[in-house]
Amino acid sequence: METKRKLSLPAWIFIGMLAGIAVGLLFIGNPGFTNDYIKPFGTIYINLLKFLVVPVVLFSIADGVISLKDLKRVGSVGAKTFIYYMFTTAFAVVIGLVVVNLFKGMFPALPSAELSGLQYEAKEAPSVMSVIVNIFPDSFFKPMVEANMLPLIVSSILIGAGVLSAGEKGKMIGNAINAMNEVIMQIMMMIIKITPFGVFCLMTNVVAVNGASIVGTLALVIGVAYLAYLLHVVIVYGLSVKCLSGMSPIAFFKGLAPAMITAFTTTSSNATLPVNMECCNKMGAEPEISSFVLPLGATINMDGTAIYQAVATVFIACCYDVTLTLADMAMVVLTATLASVGTAGVSGAGMIMLAMVLETIGLPVEGIAIIAGVDKIFDMGRTTLNITGDATCAIWVSKLEQKKAKK
Ligand code: ASP
Repeated sequence: METKRKLSLPAWIFIGMLAGIAVGLLFIGNPGFTNDYIKPFGTIYINLLKFLVVPVVLFSIADGVISLKDLKRVGSVGAKTFIYYMFTTAFAVVIGLVVVNLFKGMFPALPSAELSGLQYEAKEAPSVMSVIVNIFPDSFFKPMVEANMLPLIVSSILIGAGVLSAGEKGKMIGNAINAMNEVIMQIMMMIIKITPFGVFCLMTNVVAVNGASIVGTLALVIGVAYLAYLLHVVIVYGLSVKCLSGMSPIAFFKGLAPAMITAFTTTSSNATLPVNMECCNKMGAEPEISSFVLPLGATINMDGTAIYQAVATVFIACCYDVTLTLADMAMVVLTATLASVGTAGVSGAGMIMLAMVLETIGLPVEGIAIIAGVDKIFDMGRTTLNITGDATCAIWVSKLEQKKAKK
């Protein structure tokens, strides 16, 4: 019997990209065919990604809150964890933005932006207060229908909190939300499976329209993202482990290496969770703390994803020849932090949530097409950071709780 070794999805995605480049090269200077007959299939793939954004945010965040079980118990540990997660993630976006801004002069504007007749109208920057007011929903359904992410995230948190405070009566809804979350994850898996095809169609058109120079540009933007990843690991995680937990960073990274390698290869925080727990507990984390902090982190704490979203947003803006203002950048910090919270801990999810950041600052979501083919390479690095951030928090909160217990 012939034994065939099945290629993994990432391998197929890579093949899809290479095939797209190869076919695209054949159509350089004559992109009419790819534009009319190949790109529409890529558009279908993008539409499916967009279709997922609202349910993913709604159910994964509500489910994350519900998994805290008891609003009171959430108390001290929850607050510390949440503040640590938000703070490190916002820091990650800032690092991402600083690094990408240093290199943005090297990202060329793509002719396809002009070809599609795209025009970016500078919007009047909203005031800070109106941004804050608009985070809170004035309708239950409007944020879902309009895919308005910030109020949607607030609704999701409120729904989760409501389920918890309703006690016994809320359990049924809690279970339903948990089940819906699983259902949405399954749909996401299905859509992620057609990624090689979507990538092929998108890449073909991107290369046909823009020429081969785009390939070198992609290598550059990947390098920029990895530089920002590295800085975040060294500065934020190194300092956190050393100063907050009093542990040697070398010992920490050595202890966490199995989890980091698992994350790098599976590109899924969820899949890495058991390995991460084991590594953290071996390094002295309290098991009940790590079993609370790590799953929560796998759902809401994504520093790597946040960096990627910052880098990708500025890159896509450059491709469309759009200069982001300081207000836009501030918006990127806010939305990328929140988008990373709403990102599921599965392979490729960060790219789906990138749509949210782009939409919020008025960049075309289609821009994702430019980097979709190499998303896996971004994802390997960002998932590794995502789980490392969770682990630094588990060690820190454990140390705090141990100190409290000794008093
Ligand atoms: N793959 C990432 C994770 O599981 C999420 C992402 O795609 O950014 O942590």
